[in-house]
Amino acid sequence: PPGDSGLVVRDLAVSYGPVLALRGVSLDVPRGSVVAVLGGNGAGKSTLLRAVSGTLRFHRGGITAGEVGFGGTRLSGAATSAVVARGVVQVPEGRRVFARMTVEENLRAGALGAPDRRSAAEARESVLALFPVLAERAGQRAGLLSGGEQQMLAIGRALMAGPRMLLLDEPTLGLAPMMAARIADTVREINARGTTVLLVEQNAAMALSLASHAYVLEVGEVVLSGPAAELAASDEVRRRYLGIE
Ligand code: ATP
Repeated sequence: PPGDSGLVVRDLAVSYGPVLALRGVSLDVPRGSVVAVLGGNGAGKSTLLRAVSGTLRFHRGGITAGEVGFGGTRLSGAATSAVVARGVVQVPEGRRVFARMTVEENLRAGALGAPDRRSAAEARESVLALFPVLAERAGQRAGLLSGGEQQMLAIGRALMAGPRMLLLDEPTLGLAPMMAARIADTVREINARGTTVLLVEQNAAMALSLASHAYVLEVGEVVLSGPAAELAASDEVRRRYLGIE
């Protein structure tokens, strides 16, 4: 039904001053799905998420063409707070938690601007059920957590806003394989509970195991897209774009 669509990106171009970072990018993230965007360093993955979340301006960037819509309304041009209010929440790259605040304080910060009237206590409970380790560490400074725990906190903080859609920027970057697998399981669980996910990853194998559909970005353009299983099975794709032998 109208108003029930997921994320729609059409012919998007983004520049940082003279640097053109994205051009002609179109993609769809149907409601309830997990969609992955793959690509190497500098391909424009983070830029795409910033364009959706309304945080481009904090990086001196801007949308120069195209649009972004979610749930039938226009997101492009909206302030970050308005994007969050529509239920679209970004987990920033590099798991930027507030290092000197406690785990509990980080979670509480995530509840600010929550789009629904669900109580913060209820959100907190479901986040702690998903990540029990955060309950154990509630009073600890976030900067003292391991990398994997910080990623859990970054995701947990985003979930405190009760998002309809989560934007994940390389959630497994720099994590040991076991921890990366745990984060992947968590993303699966979050999606199973009804949250739509746009996942940006260099870890193609992991991303393709989670996503139903994937797009490959190269130098700011979509060079390939298709069902994740098809991309994962294609020898050419594996060699050329995914670095899997
Ligand atoms: P990475 O995995 O390294 O983060 P990425 O795929 O996320 O890569 P982006 O960070 O989106 O890529 O960068 C896309 C292009 O835009 C690159 O050429 C990058 O140098 C440029 N870029 C990114 N941020 C800025 C900025 N704040 N100012 C100028 N250029 C930028």
